[in-house]
Amino acid sequence: MNIHEYQAKEIFRQFGVAVPNSRVAFSVDEAVQAAQELSSGVSVVKAQIHAGGRGKAGGVKIAKSLDDVSTYAEELLGKTLVTHQTGPEGKEVKRLLIEEGCDIQKEYYVGIVLDRATSRVVMMASEEGGTEIEEVAANTPEKIFQEVIDPVTGLMPYQARRLAFNINIPKELVSKAVKFMMGLYDVFVKKDCSIAEINPLVTTGDGEVLALDAKLNFDDNALFRQKDVLEYRDLDEEDPKEIEASKYDLSYVALDGNIGCMVNGAGLAMSTMDIIKHSGGEPANFLDVGGGATAEKVTEAFKIILSDDHVKGIFVNIFGGIMKCDVIAEGVVEATKQVGLELPLVVRLEGTNVEQGKKILADSGLNITSANSMADGAQKIVELVK
Ligand code: ADP
Ligand code: MG
Repeated sequence: MNIHEYQAKEIFRQFGVAVPNSRVAFSVDEAVQAAQELSSGVSVVKAQIHAGGRGKAGGVKIAKSLDDVSTYAEELLGKTLVTHQTGPEGKEVKRLLIEEGCDIQKEYYVGIVLDRATSRVVMMASEEGGTEIEEVAANTPEKIFQEVIDPVTGLMPYQARRLAFNINIPKELVSKAVKFMMGLYDVFVKKDCSIAEINPLVTTGDGEVLALDAKLNFDDNALFRQKDVLEYRDLDEEDPKEIEASKYDLSYVALDGNIGCMVNGAGLAMSTMDIIKHSGGEPANFLDVGGGATAEKVTEAFKIILSDDHVKGIFVNIFGGIMKCDVIAEGVVEATKQVGLELPLVVRLEGTNVEQGKKILADSGLNITSANSMADGAQKIVELVK
């Protein structure tokens, strides 16, 4: 789960991670009032969307007066911001962060992620802050420093110091930078984050080390014990199809293609997407209906797939292991009837009672194309949506 910058900064304050003073605003009036309360002279009006790259896209404005704040708030609220992270459709701005303007001396980068290759949490830091870290990684990887963290000891102060020295934090600010990094690690662990990224971390003219930007992602599997984090969920930022799917415990991720996929098991779902691509098609989604898919679940899955206008055909690829193929076939037939499916539908069944399952599909009188293998099914659906 993702949250807004202003929410991440609220969490940072609780953990003593330094951030500039700021207030959230949902209207122009609130924005002006927030700036008044901050009384910082210069304030920054920042669009709150679940995507980075706002600065370059005009979503971060420096306001020198209350009139400026009002003008920028007016301009940004309701605007669809397109950044390199939003995709071409962009995201509508509904909230603003009004933040005191900082006298930035230099911008740095600090991030924490879980490195799945080593099964360790890694803190990364770079002197090249403010820019896209992906570009630094591609062009000048030697400018990114890493510390692998032992889960038993946690981030050690000497590791934070080494990072601070490596990225050339001025000597007199190293202890503040160390405190910042230790606090950030604390947030990452205690809040079950999957990503914590500060870009930029800045040093200021009056000798502070602050997070100017804040991105936190959380491990969905831990949300049951992070009730306060869950309260930060902003459904406006999520794909409505994915929200609907989560109600039925379906793992659904919307993609750009036109072939809807319904599969049981995450691994089979991944390989189904691969084989569709291999056959020259484009999957419209990842969808894992899970091991115990009932007829009701299958119906809901069909509805969600069909609510995507880009879908021109559906490929059902099910392995009947725990479930029997005849039960699945009945579910598919019922769902097809209920939703009045008009698009081409290819079904590949394998596993227990596969012959009975195929017979149910064939006898249903519905326009269902049966496939004998994954490759056969992928080729058939790609041909049918052409
Ligand atoms: P994004 O990463 O989405 O572009 P940031 O929060 O990183 O958004 O802001 C972009 C840039 O705007 C920063 O690199 C910084 O130079 C400037 N900026 C952001 N907040 C402030 C602030 N409070 N005071 C001064 N400059 C800021
Ligand atoms: Mg940023």
